[in-house]
Amino acid sequence: MKITVAVSAVQGAFIEHEKMLESLGAECFELRKKSDLERPFDALVLPGGESTVMGKLLFELDMFDTLKRKIEDGMPVFGTCAGLILLSKSISNDSANYFATMDITTKRNAYGRQLGSFHTTADFKGIGDIPMTFIRAPYIESAGEGVEILSVVDGNIVAARQGNQLVTAFHPEVLEDTSVHKYFLEITENYLKNK
Ligand code: GLN
Repeated sequence: MKITVAVSAVQGAFIEHEKMLESLGAECFELRKKSDLERPFDALVLPGGESTVMGKLLFELDMFDTLKRKIEDGMPVFGTCAGLILLSKSISNDSANYFATMDITTKRNAYGRQLGSFHTTADFKGIGDIPMTFIRAPYIESAGEGVEILSVVDGNIVAARQGNQLVTAFHPEVLEDTSVHKYFLEITENYLKNK
């Protein structure tokens, strides 16, 4: 089954996601303007970048409502870092919220300036130990009942899933390890089978 993934490319680190997903056999295209949403796709990626800018651009380019509806209708979505922030129901240190489709409360730039970026290895549920790169990362402070916690680093939730929504505070697309993207494509395969 060929999976087509639309990667939000209005801002942020989208090319790394495309390369990784394509190396796993998926087809990708970039969402840059409203008419790009007319192309059929099976899953969506919201990359890392700057959540305030990305959120604002998705509104201004009039792509926001269509994407939100697709996520609410169950389309698989993978949000990394800023993408995680866009999916969060609330942001504890910011009054804004965006798609707010995932029942998590997130803290932006949660590690402060000194520890803004770091690398570690930690367990990811169902996968095992994987390398993780954090870049001015958020973490999830709390999660609702329907949310499965997939990874915790230093007591903070850094990966979670709710239905077909997958989020990581770290950036799996910048390393060689493809396991989280594989996991996302498996979610998408199951979604397509049961659709
Ligand atoms: N600090 C960014 C934000 O708050 C996220 C950083 C990232 O995506 N690497 O949007």
